Amino acid sequence: MENKKDVLILGGGPAGLSCAIYSARAGLKTTIVEMLGMGGQASLTHKIDNYPGIPNIEGFKLGMQMAEQAQSFGVEVIYDEIKEIDTENKKVKLAYSDEVESKSIVLAMGASPRKINIDGEEKFTGRGVSYCAVCDGAFYKDKTVVVIGGGNTAVEDAMYLTKFAKKVYIIHRRDEFRASNYLSEMIKSSDVEIIWDSVPLSINGQDKAESITIKNVKTEEVKDIQTDGVFVAIGQVPRTDLVKDKVKLDKNGYILTDIEMETNIDGVYAAGDIRQKTLRQVITAAADGAIASNSATIKLMGK
Ligand code: NAP
Repeated sequence: MENKKDVLILGGGPAGLSCAIYSARAGLKTTIVEMLGMGGQASLTHKIDNYPGIPNIEGFKLGMQMAEQAQSFGVEVIYDEIKEIDTENKKVKLAYSDEVESKSIVLAMGASPRKINIDGEEKFTGRGVSYCAVCDGAFYKDKTVVVIGGGNTAVEDAMYLTKFAKKVYIIHRRDEFRASNYLSEMIKSSDVEIIWDSVPLSINGQDKAESITIKNVKTEEVKDIQTDGVFVAIGQVPRTDLVKDKVKLDKNGYILTDIEMETNIDGVYAAGDIRQKTLRQVITAAADGAIASNSATIKLMGK
């Protein structure tokens, strides 16, 4: 097919964008398919202060800059929903655009927030239950909010929400955070009230969330906390639904790659939060993308 791409990147987060920059600069015909907006989860992060050389930048801005940089090298961007990924023949079906065929595919669809699966979560999603503090925090000016989780996301979200809310709780199921020491120490000296050893049982209300019922796992005490908002930040689920029967995954659903970012299928790579790794950061996603691009370039040159 004449319109065949060299590198087809699925996902426009830092992994996909970095891969696109490297591929286009290597002279490869490069296309990104992105469903929503460029920048991935990083663009939903209030501030990024650990990307070397850029001491302090809004996640959204960093994402936009990466996208502009990619497009300045001639990367084609298709905004569409991916319907089917044929990894063997390297063809991707989209909801509204024509099928795209490529010599290599980079899976960089990232991960989405994990649901907590308690009563009221679904009912009040968008009416008090949120998975994105940066997107929805401003709706809670002078209100009370609860953040569930103990990782970096939960701790950062809780501290971010103190900019708006009059009262912020963080509820964690253990008595120590999973978040980095740096963030854990910061939240302990912030205005956020930490509720340890507790799990949420239900989110309650009439038309919108009004309270959350929690249980202390050590004392078994059950109590209600009045709240206007519940931010669920309990980790991520990799977006591997479309490839789960095609590429090898680990037991948590993350894609397994070799050190060149190649999956078990020749010419199909994975980069960023979607793949099995120990550190999920913008910089490691960007590094994965660069490596995937380099591996694809070397393979294409040999063909
Ligand atoms: P995470 O590190 O996997 O943490 C998830 C948290 O939610 C854990 O504290 C976990 O508790 C808790 N949790 C999980 N399932 C739960 C359940 N059913 N009920 C109650 N609590 C539950 O997820 P994350 O914070 O979203 O971070 C994802 C990745 O992005 C991590 O690699 C993280 O380091 C990275 N990240 C980095 C930064 C940064 O560097 N600034 C910012 C955001 C995210 P346990 O601790 O008991 O398991």
